[in-house]
Amino acid sequence: MPELPEVETVRKGLAPVMEGRLIERAENRRPDLRFPFPDGFVERLSGARVERLDRRAKYLLMRLDSGETLLSHLGMSGRFTVQQSEVALKPGDFVHAPPTSEKHDHVVFDMEGDVRIVFNDPRRFGFMTLFATDDEAAVPFLAGLGPEPNSNEFSGPFLQARVKGKKAPLKAALLDQRVVAGLGNIYVCEALYRAGLSPRRMAGSLGPKRAERLALAVRQVIDEAIAAGGSSLKDFASADGELGYFQHTFRTYGREGETCVTPDCGSKIERIVQSGRSTFFCPTCQR
Ligand code: ZN
Repeated sequence: MPELPEVETVRKGLAPVMEGRLIERAENRRPDLRFPFPDGFVERLSGARVERLDRRAKYLLMRLDSGETLLSHLGMSGRFTVQQSEVALKPGDFVHAPPTSEKHDHVVFDMEGDVRIVFNDPRRFGFMTLFATDDEAAVPFLAGLGPEPNSNEFSGPFLQARVKGKKAPLKAALLDQRVVAGLGNIYVCEALYRAGLSPRRMAGSLGPKRAERLALAVRQVIDEAIAAGGSSLKDFASADGELGYFQHTFRTYGREGETCVTPDCGSKIERIVQSGRSTFFCPTCQR
């Protein structure tokens, strides 16, 4: 499943070919993905100009000069591809490889300048919706989201205050989108390992020092993953067409039974299930 760093990679890949361009024609080739497309989808997008491409948590937000925003979620397998006929591809333009099967091309944006953007999603857990940009605070997907993990707002004191009194384990607290937005299972495991904190520790037990360490670790794993181009799908290609490789540098995720990478630790990475999701951790390094 694409996590926040992957979505940020998509945003960075699409921005240079979408921002400032008119959507000459939009097309949805089926009535729904995970949810039905909004009423008037084609009419509301065709003829609008893309002013800016933003991201909030795992949502892509396409700001249009019509006063509306197109919100897209990649779900499990959604991907955008850029197809250009006359515009020469430049370094940094967004191309997925290998090519996706056309039968899963569900949404097409024909942009001015002969650029075609295609949304392909074999499993159809992705979705798109439109809302008035001025009403963003009331949009159900966005309302109540915590700060971005790499924002200044997300700090040790903020984290400590947000989980104060919580009986839930730290793992669950970090997956709570009201505490921090867009953090998924992989990066929660990695951040807890880096902070040396047990995923089973009660969230409410965080003191200032540990909270600071954890907030810093969260920021580091997200920043590094974004810098690496993001990756959690093996077939997920970054902006230059190369497959993402950050998954090979996970220290705990997917490493059950392997020796902990901390020098002289020697313990084996363990896997437990918390809230129905796998947690990988080192029982010696994480307390
Ligand atoms: Zn260890």
